[in-house]
Amino acid sequence: MTNNPGTLFVVATPIGNLDDISARARDVLSKADVVAAEDTRRAGQLLTRLGFRRRLVSLHEHNESDRIEQLTDVLISGGTVALISDAGTPLINDPGYRLLAAARDRDLPVSPVPGCCAAIAALSVAGLPTDRFRFEGFLPAKSSARRKRLAAVSDCPDTLIFYESVHRIADVIDDLLEIFGPERPITLARELTKRHETIYRGSIESVREQLLNDPGGGKGEFTLIAAGAPAAADLADGEMQRVVAILLAELPARQAAALAAEITGSRKRDAYRFANELKAADRAK
Ligand code: SAM
Repeated sequence: MTNNPGTLFVVATPIGNLDDISARARDVLSKADVVAAEDTRRAGQLLTRLGFRRRLVSLHEHNESDRIEQLTDVLISGGTVALISDAGTPLINDPGYRLLAAARDRDLPVSPVPGCCAAIAALSVAGLPTDRFRFEGFLPAKSSARRKRLAAVSDCPDTLIFYESVHRIADVIDDLLEIFGPERPITLARELTKRHETIYRGSIESVREQLLNDPGGGKGEFTLIAAGAPAAADLADGEMQRVVAILLAELPARQAAALAAEITGSRKRDAYRFANELKAADRAK
């Protein structure tokens, strides 16, 4: 190894709009000794559009292990390598993990050149909680395996992020409707940063309708964001409120609240407060 091995740059590229390339990504790509790309033809087109040419080496799912020696040799002899994928951030449902693991094992310098990522772009406009989220990537293609996966995450309280192909998006939404129920809020982001960018928001049932009624809904790239499962306390509250509302039609507030608390296991005080809120709302009508 030279005293100064080169750096492996992990470079994010646009997910649609070429203007989303960062100044640093442009600079790193223009100077890299080797650009390792998922698809060298697409990478060549990107570099041409950016106005330069570099030595391209393909690195995809099927040859990643074979390429590791070649690329780490470049780094060890002091050259720089820029890793890109077809779109967005490498390694995020894209090749590169084994190369990065090899760089880590060999203690070679690495540096991220951050930028677009469809998951984060969709999450940023979803209008759903972002304090905790879980990236699920692609769901299984087979319906039975997909439903099993959805059932496994249906109780997860974190916001969920899925990538999905245009061929399966309608089926996935049907499965979501059945497994998560029609009311769970979701956001479906189609063709982000492109000309036909569309963001469908609402309950699963409503987004399903919006997609079916959109003539362009059957085309493009999709990222789906689903709200996490409501907390158990919220569900219990919902049940208590439902029972209070029914009993209040027949009973005074105090009695309705006491019975509702007994039936649902909620606190009597909460049930009584809710009963009084309902009565006040009724009087205001
Ligand atoms: N590494 C990429 C990234 O950082 O976004 C993701 C690669 S993954 C193989 C491709 C998937 O990302 C697509 O099938 C789609 O689910 C999502 N995706 C990519 N571009 C998108 C876009 N412009 N709008 C919405 N989703 C997109």
